[in-house]
Amino acid sequence: MNGHFIISLDYEIHWGVFDKKTVDDYRENLINVSKVVDRLIELSDTYNIRLTFSTVGFLFAKDKVDLFRYIPKNKPTYKIENVNPYTLLEHIGHNENDDPFHYALSKIKEIKNNGNHEIGTHTFSHFYCHAHGQTFEQFDDDIKASVDIAKTLDIDIKSIVFPKNQINPDQNFDKPYLEACKKHGITSFRGKEKSFIYNIHSTKKYRNLLIIRLLKPLDAYFSLTGSNTYNIKEINKNSIICNIPSSRFLRPYNTKLKFLEPLKLRRIKKAMKHAAKHNETYHLWWHPHNFGVNMDKNFENLENIFKTYKKLNKTYGFQSETMTGLSSKIK
Ligand SMILES: [Zn+2]
Repeated sequence: MNGHFIISLDYEIHWGVFDKKTVDDYRENLINVSKVVDRLIELSDTYNIRLTFSTVGFLFAKDKVDLFRYIPKNKPTYKIENVNPYTLLEHIGHNENDDPFHYALSKIKEIKNNGNHEIGTHTFSHFYCHAHGQTFEQFDDDIKASVDIAKTLDIDIKSIVFPKNQINPDQNFDKPYLEACKKHGITSFRGKEKSFIYNIHSTKKYRNLLIIRLLKPLDAYFSLTGSNTYNIKEINKNSIICNIPSSRFLRPYNTKLKFLEPLKLRRIKKAMKHAAKHNETYHLWWHPHNFGVNMDKNFENLENIFKTYKKLNKTYGFQSETMTGLSSKIK
């Protein structure tokens, strides 16, 4: 099997950041998400690239009444109240027209009608699997809701990206959360990079040490952890559902560190080439709201990456695929 290029986008608008930022704190990024999605689709179509939009279930609702129809009875009982999105519901608008920060039905329909791209889930409520207080049963109901609300648009949810990459994949774990995904028809998830800097459990205090927090941004410019490409068959020998790990988070254009942008791109393109040459997978991800400011610069960078893809596609048969497309090829 030739190498593959995967792009997954955590499509969430305000639901992905509500616990850290109000809409006003982050307005410019959020208000532009819809424009970003349009440009992503247009550019991807130009280069024949397939995207996976891992979409928060709340965004599918027609309006508030519709949203309440899908909310599970068994909601997450987080110990820390501010990570609970359900407390925000009384403050959001009625539908996409009066509140484009919490609804996105028309955009989801556009992605679907385009036909090249996949719509997967980022859970129904941006569920935090590592947060204290939540349970496996609540997660199970959340996933069921995300699958059910997508069905109204004839969308079959087949892949998942866990919010904040909080995954409980352990097979020795009492109830691995991946089993719930499997039960509801999901066949793949985005795992994390191998290196320890990406695998410090969110409950560990040393995760917040300055030195640890600096390693991830440094790794974006300088190769601390290597290419993070992989042979998909090797990775999936014992997995409950197919693991398609991330290779890299595409950091948004940084005005203050703009002199480092070429290094960031070089690092990505070099790893893509490595994957193409060795028949491996390269998986890039980010959030559409990351492109909400410096939009032109971000799209310039992305087009640069897509041009590299096109060359690698010609030379090595490197192929763009959705998460589900790749997992079906493995099967
Ligand atoms: Zn998220």
